Amino acid sequence: MKGCFEGLRTPFYYYDTRLLADTIAAIKSKTDKHEGWHLHYAVKACANPKVLKLIQQAGFGADCVSGGEIKTCLENDFPANEIVFAGVGKADWEIELALEAGIQYFNVESIPELEVIAEIAERMGKVADVSFRINPDVGAHTHANITTGLAENKFGIAKEDMIQVIRIAEQMPSVRFVGLHFHIGSQILEMDDFEALCYRINELQDQLEAEGITLKNINVGGGLGIDYKTPDEHPVPDFKAYFDTYAKLLKLRSGQHLHFELGRAVVGQCGSLITRCLYVKQAQERQFAIVDAGMTELIRPALYGAYHYIQNLSGSEPVQTYDVVGPICESSDIFAKDCQLPATQRGDLIAIRSAGAYGETMASQYNCRELPRTYTTEEVLSKCKM
Ligand SMILES: *Cc1c(COP(=O)(O)O)cnc(C)c1O
Repeated sequence: MKGCFEGLRTPFYYYDTRLLADTIAAIKSKTDKHEGWHLHYAVKACANPKVLKLIQQAGFGADCVSGGEIKTCLENDFPANEIVFAGVGKADWEIELALEAGIQYFNVESIPELEVIAEIAERMGKVADVSFRINPDVGAHTHANITTGLAENKFGIAKEDMIQVIRIAEQMPSVRFVGLHFHIGSQILEMDDFEALCYRINELQDQLEAEGITLKNINVGGGLGIDYKTPDEHPVPDFKAYFDTYAKLLKLRSGQHLHFELGRAVVGQCGSLITRCLYVKQAQERQFAIVDAGMTELIRPALYGAYHYIQNLSGSEPVQTYDVVGPICESSDIFAKDCQLPATQRGDLIAIRSAGAYGETMASQYNCRELPRTYTTEEVLSKCKM
């Protein structure tokens, strides 16, 4: 690929569509055999239309967290009745849009939100299918900014309030209660977090049944992590461990549906941010490789201190130590400190790997920059032949 990248203006996202296809196939090989299991791709991870198309064609539904995402999914041929809608702050127009489109259900995160959905549905002469996002209070051992399932987080409804909110919904003529939703965080690699979630859901389901409440759907969210350190060793995440955990531990009732909302694990490894070294700058005891991509294209390192494996596609031995930094006027615009790279010079192509999830979707135009361009494998190859 490197030779084909040479003629392209940097920075850009490169999406390895063959790896994406392999990843999708690996997921489906673990889920297709289970009747009642459904996949809703978490669109916020990567909403690039070329990527969405492949995921849609593989038969995934979608998990959206905004009206804009719902529109994007509809434009990219996701069936409305396979779109679920989460988020703590759904605006009235977003609720109207979702009801108008006929989405599958809302993942409701508070009683005030339930009341607004009921009101809007009633005004529109519709019945809204709602599922409640319950905060299971199980901790994900990941970065504090990406845990969502602890009691202290802003997401969801406390499990102690679960029965009360279901009772409220049951009294509302314009609302139909269809299940429970959970999502405990992101970049989770330890199966014990998902195991804890399964046990918690079993417990809650027993409590509900004692009250005569049954669930049509259980939605366990997403959160499976990827290998940022050595992406070439684990290009496809460990879907076997992940799905086997649910198959073994979660006690589904007969006819019940289980929904998954994976984002990062689907698209994370197929994307790389390709950038070029502009300058190598020597400073006191440090050496900076200044590249033409910055936090405007990939904010994860600046936002969460996230690690991305960085490769110099052009350089040769011996290895030296660089701080790889972008051109943006912010001190946090750093991709990596003390990064070992082959001797790097102006013009070298640099790949920032595992950038398919929460990369392009978080891009901004700060410093009046253009949004990043993107190429798939097919597009790069076709330009290469010409
Ligand atoms: C972000 C999000 C997901 C996807 O999380 P990943 O870690 O990317 O798998 C799933 N469900 C909800 C509700 C989300 O907010």
